[in-house]
Amino acid sequence: MKIINPATEAVITELAEDTSTSINEKYQLLKEGQAAWAMVPLAERIACIATFYDLLDTEKDELARTLTSEMGKPLQQAYNEINGARGRIKFFIDQSAKYLAEEWIITEGATKEKIVYEPLGIIANISAWNYPFLVGVNVFIPALIGGNAVFYKPSEYSTLTGLHIQRLLLKAGIPDNCFQTAIGKGAVGEQLLQLPLDGYFFTGSYRTGKYIAERVASKLVPCQLELGGKDPLYVMDDVADIANVAANALEGVVYNNGQSCCAVERIYVHEKVYDAFVASYVAQLQKLVVGDPLDAATDIGPLSRKEQMEFLISQINDAEDKGATVLAGGNMLDREGYFLEPTVLVNVNHHMKIMMEESFGPVVGIQKVADDAEAISLMQDTEYGLTASIYSATYERAEVLMKQLNTGTVYWNCCDRVSANLPWSGRKSSGLGSTLSYQGIRAFVQPKAYHIRG
Ligand code: NAD
Repeated sequence: MKIINPATEAVITELAEDTSTSINEKYQLLKEGQAAWAMVPLAERIACIATFYDLLDTEKDELARTLTSEMGKPLQQAYNEINGARGRIKFFIDQSAKYLAEEWIITEGATKEKIVYEPLGIIANISAWNYPFLVGVNVFIPALIGGNAVFYKPSEYSTLTGLHIQRLLLKAGIPDNCFQTAIGKGAVGEQLLQLPLDGYFFTGSYRTGKYIAERVASKLVPCQLELGGKDPLYVMDDVADIANVAANALEGVVYNNGQSCCAVERIYVHEKVYDAFVASYVAQLQKLVVGDPLDAATDIGPLSRKEQMEFLISQINDAEDKGATVLAGGNMLDREGYFLEPTVLVNVNHHMKIMMEESFGPVVGIQKVADDAEAISLMQDTEYGLTASIYSATYERAEVLMKQLNTGTVYWNCCDRVSANLPWSGRKSSGLGSTLSYQGIRAFVQPKAYHIRG
């Protein structure tokens, strides 16, 4: 398997993909190791994760450069991701003991009752490339703390980062028969589906996620899916600082080159502030620097995958064919690497793919709306349900809409944000189950009910 640098199209290295034999050997190792790991006291399991937390900091320079070289995010954003992942790990280090402790429910009388949380067993962590540290730690950290063994499948577009993660976990004291990495593309992931694992935790596209859910359904084990989105942002007519709102929206669209599950993918603006918002958005967009992700001046690096260029250009063409106007961007850069100009379209509507299909790039359509009723109706017109954002002067007016939105997350005066304290979950085609928060600790254990008489 070739690992390509998307900024230069150079081959960084070639790796051997796992075979069915090597996958089975790794599975046998995990089978041997999991029960012993579950017997290790919780405090010791957490101590290993605390060492991993430190190692991420010690080795951050190499980790950040590897991440940028294989998926193209600007180097500063690679550092931000590692820091963000450490923040989430800290949450699990601090909170897990509380939520994994046995709970006495009835302590008086003839029959006492308690709940004990036991690991699921060996879980699959099939992961995405856009934030390999962040989406990875949502799963393998609480899974390991909970006493599970993890069969980790990094994306083929962030494999070198996946291998660093494995190396550092082992260095931190996680036994190698508790954490194994499957190297390869979808066909290797497919082999994990054939194993009798005790849980499937997937981050990636709706298409693959739905396939995996169907494929493992008959195993009757937990299956959680963190999938894509088409996340809307609505600007009400009473916002005070339109330039600031436009700056927020722009960052929500283009951060990580728009390759975020919760990136802003559609913008609706009240007609009273529409012209001012669009002018400010375009003016700020034109200042963004697209180029070498290792250069500190760069805001936007290359797209991570070659196929994505054609996909985004076809979305833009479809919108133009149906009457949209490109106000800025719209073209690939004439140089090696997979660079697309940040792009904004107006005169858009919901007959266009750009407003209905996940884009996963630095591209957005801005649509004018007459009032809150039209805005909420358009925001709800989607198969997805990950996040939605509202900007307004008063929380009360925004909250009326926030209550109606069928999404796992709602934002007021912010966007494209994840907190370890809160559950991260998608509704409809955006996913199933939650990671992060105490729910994301309990997701990797199963309750056992004790009835104790006498
Ligand atoms: P993808 O579905 O192409 O791949 C995800 C993983 O699944 C990869 O490791 C891949 O090798 C593996 N895979 C592919 N086919 C498989 C099969 N048949 N069996 C088992 N495994 C298989 O997704 P991607 O391109 O890596 O990620 C981008 C998508 O992920 C976007 O839609 C994005 O919105 C979503 N995402 C969601 C979240 C979230 O938290 N909701 C976070 C990050 C990314």
